[in-house]
This record gives sequence, C-alpha cells and structure tokens, in this order.
Amino acid sequence: MVRLKACKSCGAIVEKGKICPKCGNKGLTTFWQGKIYVLKPESSEIARKKKIEKPGKYALRLSV
Ligand SMILES: [Zn+2]
Repeated sequence: MVRLKACKSCGAIVEKGKICPKCGNKGLTTFWQGKIYVLKPESSEIARKKKIEKPGKYALRLSV
C-alpha cells in the first residue's frame, strides 16, 4: 500500500500529484497520523479548530 502524503501547510491529504490541491503548497509529508473527512467545514468543530475551509480529507496530526 502506498503511503499517501499530506500537505504540511493545511494538512490536506494529497492522493495524486505533488502539489496540495487545497492550498497549492508543494511541501508534502508522509509523516502524519489519523484521517478526517470534512464535508461541511462551516459546521464541523474539528474543521474550525484546524482552520479548514474546504471540504475534503485531512490529516489529523502532522508529525514533521
Ligand atoms: Zn495544503
């Protein structure tokens, strides 16, 4: 199984390519833990805490 990468800036999980589709950041890491699915950022407490503004998959914790 291929380890997915997560954006170091916003935490979005990047399934394809080398650039974060959410914020355009090129700094990706494979060192992350947990996964959250944000469907409605405006009504999600975790999204608010993590300042997630777009729906998608995000890493819960980055370890780099
Ligand atoms: Zn990002």
